[in-house]
Amino acid sequence: MSGPDLVVVGAGLFGLTVARRCADDLGLHVLVVDRRHHVGGNAWSAPEPSTGIEVHRYGAHLFHTSNERVWEYVNRFTAFTRYEHRVWARHRGEMFPLPFSLATVNQFFRTALDPAQARALVAGQAAEVRGVPDNLEDKAVSLIGRPLYEAFVRGYTAKQWQTDPRELPPEVITRLPVRWTYDTRYFDDTYQGLPVDGYAAWFARMVDHPRIEVRLGTDFLDPAQPVSRASAVGQVPVVFTGPLDRYFDDVHGPLSWRTLDLEQEVLPVGDHQGTSVVNHVDLDVPWTRVLEFRHFHPERRYPDDATVIVRERSRWAGRDDEPYYPVNGTGDRERLLAYRALAREERGVLFGGRLGTYQYLDMHMAIGSALTAVDNVLAPRLVRSAA
Ligand code: UDP
Repeated sequence: MSGPDLVVVGAGLFGLTVARRCADDLGLHVLVVDRRHHVGGNAWSAPEPSTGIEVHRYGAHLFHTSNERVWEYVNRFTAFTRYEHRVWARHRGEMFPLPFSLATVNQFFRTALDPAQARALVAGQAAEVRGVPDNLEDKAVSLIGRPLYEAFVRGYTAKQWQTDPRELPPEVITRLPVRWTYDTRYFDDTYQGLPVDGYAAWFARMVDHPRIEVRLGTDFLDPAQPVSRASAVGQVPVVFTGPLDRYFDDVHGPLSWRTLDLEQEVLPVGDHQGTSVVNHVDLDVPWTRVLEFRHFHPERRYPDDATVIVRERSRWAGRDDEPYYPVNGTGDRERLLAYRALAREERGVLFGGRLGTYQYLDMHMAIGSALTAVDNVLAPRLVRSAA
């Protein structure tokens, strides 16, 4: 590629979707750069060498969407298994299904309530919250009542965010459905599954295009790199999906991010916990959850004498850590507005994805917003500039 028509910084799902659509539909030559040695961002996975068990290297990524357009788009690159995610929570030596369903309520209260009775019980326990909840704690209590909140949310959220739940946005908890049935699936979405031959194969197909070039090991914010903020911005349109604050050298101070420590272990047993994810919701266990990867692909043949587990812990992201979760605490909100104002003024650069917009996006949301960004922002601009 002589000179690209577009530089995409970051090969996560937002960046890959933009790159592929611009190459396919706008005929552009797209250069994708990423600091890492692989494409796919945090959704990337690879087999654990000694067992062949596919491990999501940056924590569990479960694909789910109800967006027809997103589903149709992703199916161009991969087929999906029929995996439906279920989570078990360990609380005081007992296992409960999550998210909150009639099964959770009845097990927790040692009852056999029907849906209407369970709703009435929880409504009484939620009555302390008045008005529209504007923080995670009030929102959670309004949905599930105080006792379930104290048991399943308070400790887990303290470990996950180390932030007063009254300072976290309510949207964090509304990621979890609340159901008055015995449906114990983690997600409500119409389409759910895992890429049949893995995330890496899916992403490799996305960038397999004559007008897409990928350069790995390239930090766009390092001026010594041949393609960098210093050399590219103003010369060629850029889509930036790295952390919004870092693009602007933290001029308004850093936004707060959480990172994960993932401690992997191969155990000499065929099955460690009987399911893919166990949340440890009590504070006496330091990790938030334990993932056992063989259970993500029950359709595959894996060894029956070895299993791979990952213990997941969350902590504040320092300057050199991978940012995973935007905290969006009360202290971040003004700063975020200041960065968004800078982003609007940055000519020729579109910010996108979880890191580039400082939003807690799932994979399907990143893809959906990339499809829309191409339609509404990139297609009109790039066609105009070519004309
Ligand atoms: N959460 C909780 N207890 C749980 C699971 C989730 O309190 O056992 C809360 C917690 O605040 C968490 C949020 O719900 O950050 C969203 O959970 P989700 O499983 O969507 O988190 P992710 O998988 O994105 O880390």
